[in-house]
Amino acid sequence: MTPVQQTQRPTPAELDAADPLASQRDAFYSPEAGQLISYLDGNSLGRPLKATAANLASFVHDAWGSRLIRGWDEQWMDEPIVVGDRIGQVALGAAAGQVTVGDSTSVMLYKLIRAAMDAQPSRDEIIIDRDNFPTDRFIIEGIAKERGASIKWIAANPASGVRAADLDGLLGERTAVVVLSHVAYRSGFLADAEAITSVVHKAGALMLWDLCHSVGCVPLELDAWGVDLAVGCTYKYLNGGPGSPAFAYINASHQDRLQQPIWGWMGAENPFAMTDSYRPAQGVRRFITGTPPILAMQPLKDMVELIASVGLDAIREKSIKLTEYAITLSEELLEPLGVQMVSPRDPAERGSHITVEHPLFADVTARLWEKGVIPDFRPPHGLRIGLSPLSTSYAEVEMGVAAIREALSELL
Ligand SMILES: *Cc1c(COP(=O)(O)O)cnc(C)c1O
Repeated sequence: MTPVQQTQRPTPAELDAADPLASQRDAFYSPEAGQLISYLDGNSLGRPLKATAANLASFVHDAWGSRLIRGWDEQWMDEPIVVGDRIGQVALGAAAGQVTVGDSTSVMLYKLIRAAMDAQPSRDEIIIDRDNFPTDRFIIEGIAKERGASIKWIAANPASGVRAADLDGLLGERTAVVVLSHVAYRSGFLADAEAITSVVHKAGALMLWDLCHSVGCVPLELDAWGVDLAVGCTYKYLNGGPGSPAFAYINASHQDRLQQPIWGWMGAENPFAMTDSYRPAQGVRRFITGTPPILAMQPLKDMVELIASVGLDAIREKSIKLTEYAITLSEELLEPLGVQMVSPRDPAERGSHITVEHPLFADVTARLWEKGVIPDFRPPHGLRIGLSPLSTSYAEVEMGVAAIREALSELL
């Protein structure tokens, strides 16, 4: 009999058995047995909670079906800010009155960047990195064209991400706003939001963080970091469902001097006064445009409450362990086949997904999806393994990486 080696790695089953958050997985809806082997894309679309199905049905019956139009007066007019405050409290480190929910991340980016530009007429430059998510770059290209502004591009190392030093030589008295992703959608690099915000402030500019890939898996302290503006998705780690609305954070100190460019009645001072012309509401409400998507903001509330009950520190701890485990497995199983890991090795610089690269990964991903193993593919060669901490098991990571190896070997 061979003695058990002390250094032997625990099995995925042992890791799951020792995971204090393992039981949280029961809160998520699971498709029929056999349909889903390994879901590795919670960073693109989080899984629904079981509670959400019941809560949506009761919303239809009780709130919408029974209160009907009275629901607006009774609850829905305030809902974008009530839900925003709760996201702020649980996940953003934001005091009440600074977060609103609505629109898409793209539209929120437009509104906040335009507001930031309009408030600083002597500043006509926007800074963003070349590797940022397409919509962030496209929105900025459009605003630059519309406003006759110019874009300063940061060329950061794509395998990591933007550091404070990368802004040297770009920031200046013409910089209006710097737009960066807190966690890079490709590499998973976690930027030092506090340090970068402070460098941007030294140049007198405003800082806008895109939190799409960090909200719900990385603890955030927007107020303490002095962040000016932020936006984020709710369908990723906040499990709000396909197309659930975005949130925007506008630091209270800026709300009076910022005016967003899409003037609608719901962001006006008194929507039901049906006035002749637009006057913005006070506070964060002025960042609303039209009728808020009340129905679409119901599911995310369930996840925000689950996050509140578990605590973001425990979620972050599991996230780090899951990404560590995925990296170990990919070193063992994938690197011998020529796969390269392009995410930071230091967990302090990593969000909740990792990216591995191989020229055959587009084909590999298509094969895996048919089998119920679901990472995602980002051109040119990146396969992302997204690990939503509350819904992902170690066994799923192990089966997923083993399936990637198998599919790749078949194609080699
Ligand atoms: C997912 C994501 C978006 C998505 O924007 P939508 O308007 O919801 O389509 C934007 N920016 C980043 C960084 C993202 O990760």
